[in-house]
Amino acid sequence: MFDVAVGKTRERSPGTFDQWFGGIQFDDWTGEVLTLRAQNEFVLDWVRTNFWPDLREQLLTLSGISVQVSWILDPHLERPVSLATMTQPVRPRPLSLPQPEDLRPSYVTAVDRMPVVERRRVSPEDINPRFTFSNFVVGPSNQLAHAASVAAAGGGGRRYNPLFLCGGTGLGKTHLVHAIAHRVYEERPNARIRYLSAERFTNEFITGLQHHRMDEFRSKYREDCDVLLVDDIQFLAGRVQTQEEFFHTFNALHNADKQIIVTSDKYPQALERMEERLVSRFASGLVADIQIPELETRVAIVRNKAALEGIETDDDVAIFLAQAVRSNVRELEGTLIRLAAKSSLTGRKVDMEFVKAELQNTFVHRTQMLSVEDIQRAVCQHFHLRTSDLTSKDRHKTIAFARHVAMYLCKQRLTCSFPELGRAFGGRDHTTVMSAVRKIETQREDDPAVRAHIEAIERKLAVE
Ligand code: ADP
Ligand code: MG
Repeated sequence: MFDVAVGKTRERSPGTFDQWFGGIQFDDWTGEVLTLRAQNEFVLDWVRTNFWPDLREQLLTLSGISVQVSWILDPHLERPVSLATMTQPVRPRPLSLPQPEDLRPSYVTAVDRMPVVERRRVSPEDINPRFTFSNFVVGPSNQLAHAASVAAAGGGGRRYNPLFLCGGTGLGKTHLVHAIAHRVYEERPNARIRYLSAERFTNEFITGLQHHRMDEFRSKYREDCDVLLVDDIQFLAGRVQTQEEFFHTFNALHNADKQIIVTSDKYPQALERMEERLVSRFASGLVADIQIPELETRVAIVRNKAALEGIETDDDVAIFLAQAVRSNVRELEGTLIRLAAKSSLTGRKVDMEFVKAELQNTFVHRTQMLSVEDIQRAVCQHFHLRTSDLTSKDRHKTIAFARHVAMYLCKQRLTCSFPELGRAFGGRDHTTVMSAVRKIETQREDDPAVRAHIEAIERKLAVE
């Protein structure tokens, strides 16, 4: 059953199927729970976002069971698929239909054909072969972050050390960090590159403590390291001991003039429950933010992605998609991939007619079409206010509270920057928005009445 379902999905997908499913293995299927093993986080994330919804639908049709998937991260899956592509330029691949021998629970066939390459200090399975500078579309929204990343990769010097990349989810932070790792490796193959998420740093630190292997941990990150790249540093929030360890790691590397690159979903000063001395270290080099890309950049990203994946589209489709999905590049790419997968099933071209019909009914379309104005409207309906109240200077308690909730929801749902939100709320300073968002975040946790308000508005937005 599983083979058939996977086979069908494979048929529906563009040429990337092998690449992503090479890093996934079938483990078990008991009752409603399907256990899959993923070679690393980005393969897991990609498959979960782009293939799992269709797979689940197929499984439901075939078996009548609403299957839940349980993921296991297993970096030791044999010969990850990314090894091969690490050494080759990425090219669009033609859509390949499944061969009977491929319809197996685990996609070992694809993996078996891959050549083996030498292991490096940055283990290739940690670095996405597609996240290179040449695959990154540069526009006004990410120009500074891109230029700073290129400079840091080239050993840019103290001005870029540390380099702190920040921006909303799905806007290209991880892509840039991987691109830096690729570039450093190309230019200085002997450089000792360490790339990891802050979560993994935390886990390794805890394991080091538990097994009395702190010396090993410390020499790995403080001495045996020329370039340290840490993704999603906001994960350290409230983890006092790990922050302390990271602080010393940071200092050891910085004092030795080793390059440090950190990413975060917030500016250093906006990081919550982060030690002040770390915040000031993060802000001491170059802080480069990534904003939501402008329409032109989004169109270029769609075109670029379509070319990489071998998806044939028209220009008007690229523009339409870029208009429909505004605030998150990951969603934009995901939408294109899903459309391509569907079109290959029916043998139809990804043209305007097809795209419009498909997007009309999808959830993605609805949520991505949300704007600041939609959120302001929903909040005002809920609190019986006028939208102009939210942008006014009125500090009346109810109005101020509604304004803060609206700012909070915008930040949650739209990936706008704080300055953009400040402008959308009557030209307020970005620090005002920051503290409003933080206040509501805390109140949402502590105060059931606040939680109830927010949930009611969220329900309103869900049916918009
Ligand atoms: P983040 O780490 O900021 O959440 P990612 O780096 O994971 O975001 O990016 C999400 C997806 O969007 C990735 O597939 C990435 O390749 C793509 N992406 C983001 N920005 C760009 C860009 N400027 N050009 C090309 N692809 C991009
Ligand atoms: Mg990321």
